[in-house]
Amino acid sequence: MCYVSEIPGHEGVKRQQMDEIKPIGESYGYVRLALPLMSQYNIPVTPQNYTVWYRYVSGADAELAGVIDELLKSETPFSDETNEALYKRCCRDKDEGELRKIRDDLRNILLTILKEVTELTGQSEEYESFVTRSVDTLTEDASAEEIRTVIGQIIEKTKALGSFGKNIRRKLNETTEALQALREDFERVKTEASADFLTGLANRKAFHDALTEQMDEAISQQKELSLLLVDIDHFKQFNDEYGHLIGDEVLKFVAKKIKEIVRGRDFLARFGGEEFAVILPQTPLEGAQVVAESINRLFAQTTLKAVNTSTTFGKVTVSVGVARYRPGEPPDNLINRADRALYRAKQTGRNRVVTERNS
Ligand code: GH3
Ligand code: MG
Ligand code: MG
Repeated sequence: MCYVSEIPGHEGVKRQQMDEIKPIGESYGYVRLALPLMSQYNIPVTPQNYTVWYRYVSGADAELAGVIDELLKSETPFSDETNEALYKRCCRDKDEGELRKIRDDLRNILLTILKEVTELTGQSEEYESFVTRSVDTLTEDASAEEIRTVIGQIIEKTKALGSFGKNIRRKLNETTEALQALREDFERVKTEASADFLTGLANRKAFHDALTEQMDEAISQQKELSLLLVDIDHFKQFNDEYGHLIGDEVLKFVAKKIKEIVRGRDFLARFGGEEFAVILPQTPLEGAQVVAESINRLFAQTTLKAVNTSTTFGKVTVSVGVARYRPGEPPDNLINRADRALYRAKQTGRNRVVTERNS
């Protein structure tokens, strides 16, 4: 669906005009419309703001378009707070697919800005191919660190373009600033995308990324690697008895306590609803079992109590499944073994640790 209306204050540009711009990639035309508008209203070119304005010009979100049109009409300045609020509104339902799209668009935005610089400065093919190569490395699974490096390299290279006339220098400065902002904000988007909303721990996606990385390292350094799956016992019952909000507080508490027990290089994630995963690098099965026992013991010994009142909520206990990585196996095999051990812990009475050996 295409939302057709004139963009106030930006004469002659219609969202529909998109169709007339020959697309390089499908989103290229929207990029060409979004960027000048952002510049006109002094909106920093960050992935968040860019997502908002991209959606605005694409007409994908009629409700958002209505809100922005109102702001434009009333000449409200686009402060950081307004931009943030627009982003939240626009992306409250954002999912993995949407974030992937932001990354794709980020590539487009970089290409667009840099192509402009190339044209302006009449730079050599060498510069252009450097940029294209760099942008090409921003693939779907590039890590935040890789993206940071790539943008950093482009900034350096752009800065080193030499001396030009005033206008070109200004454009180059603008570009460099936009890139710096992108670099910082992209990192924030990445963090938000990989964190679990409730507990602030790594989410399942981040867990998978970390596990793959640790498996590679275990192989290259010939080190042991183990995995724990920790599941709260009878948590449904707990929720039924005390309510979901108290349940949420307990989840935060459990996350915090497990974090205190594990060491710095261990990786703790929220694996699912009331389930947590801990990756233990350089740790054999026996060592992992010791960690699992400490986690289990801590909760078995802790009575939950409200912070400001004397209300108590009894105990929540946890069951833990432990498995050791077999070099070369896929991540799912390791996870399944830990899960089987956990299942066994549940079946044999809960509030206990079971390792793959005795599952
Ligand atoms: P078991 O000992 O077999 O693990 O029993 P259980 O009740 O913990 O397990 P089950 O899988 O039957 O139910 C999990 C419950 O965890 C269901 C749901 O109420 C609760 N839960 C999952 N995610 C959340 C959450 O984000 N907040 C709250 N409060 N509860 C959650
Ligand atoms: Mg449970
Ligand atoms: Mg569960």
